[in-house]
Amino acid sequence: MRIGNLAGRLTVFTEHGALDVEQTSAGEFSADPQAIYPRWEEFRRWWAGHAPRTEPAVPFTQDDLGAPAPHPAQVLAIGLNYRDHATEAGFAIPDSPTVFTKFVSSFTGPIGNIVLAGPTVDWEVELVAVIGERARNVAVEDGWSHIAGLTLGQDISERTVQLAGPAPQFSLGKSFPGFSPTGPWLVTPDELAERDAIQLGCAVNGEAVQKGSSCDLVFSIPELVARLSAVLPLEPGDVIFTGTPAGVGVVRKPQRFLSAGDELVSYARGIGEMRHRFVSATAPTQHTPE
Ligand code: ZN
Repeated sequence: MRIGNLAGRLTVFTEHGALDVEQTSAGEFSADPQAIYPRWEEFRRWWAGHAPRTEPAVPFTQDDLGAPAPHPAQVLAIGLNYRDHATEAGFAIPDSPTVFTKFVSSFTGPIGNIVLAGPTVDWEVELVAVIGERARNVAVEDGWSHIAGLTLGQDISERTVQLAGPAPQFSLGKSFPGFSPTGPWLVTPDELAERDAIQLGCAVNGEAVQKGSSCDLVFSIPELVARLSAVLPLEPGDVIFTGTPAGVGVVRKPQRFLSAGDELVSYARGIGEMRHRFVSATAPTQHTPE
């Protein structure tokens, strides 16, 4: 199943088009995309058993897509979680996850403009997991059963802000408005041929800059559920940015950062694509859905 946020409404995407969940379920489920996660199992059963699959599916435009989980209570993001990225950044492979947050006000959708918050704005393509069942002290082998699905994300980072001060400010430097795009939709794990080996990458103005596979994660998605839920409960709808592979701009020689007019295209095989254009803070901005 592919679900998402079409102009702010919970939507199932099928080969026939978009199905509005509130309308299709005759009001049994709310239109609010975030409200579905606490009812995830019930929703899955409804879709498997009773939902009409073709009518009234309608065509849609990708410009109207928003974040599949737009208002999570908690956002957890993992640093240095691909071996090649830890190495390029000059760090040893971590033996425990490096965790920070991206504040929810930085969330945006898979298509649109992002305002450059400074001169050192960088890309980080990531797989993003959304929790579908509360997780507390979960074993690694049970980790996947707590995941509603995966989507694609960018952990956009203003490196000067991130690295300023005696202790790095990951959470602030990665939380300017628009710095946490996700989408185009959430794909349930059963639809992913190889859920532990998903290829992902991104390109700037058509030039590939990152390319990796989630089989190279230091802490796999189920292991993150186990490690994080050993500290705090993960609630339905919570979002985990799982880390980025090698190829970010700050460690390139010479360094490379995003400029006004640059187009960043991100992909994850089996999930989809996002497209963002970077604009200067003084340029008029176009509305982008959350
Ligand atoms: Zn990241």
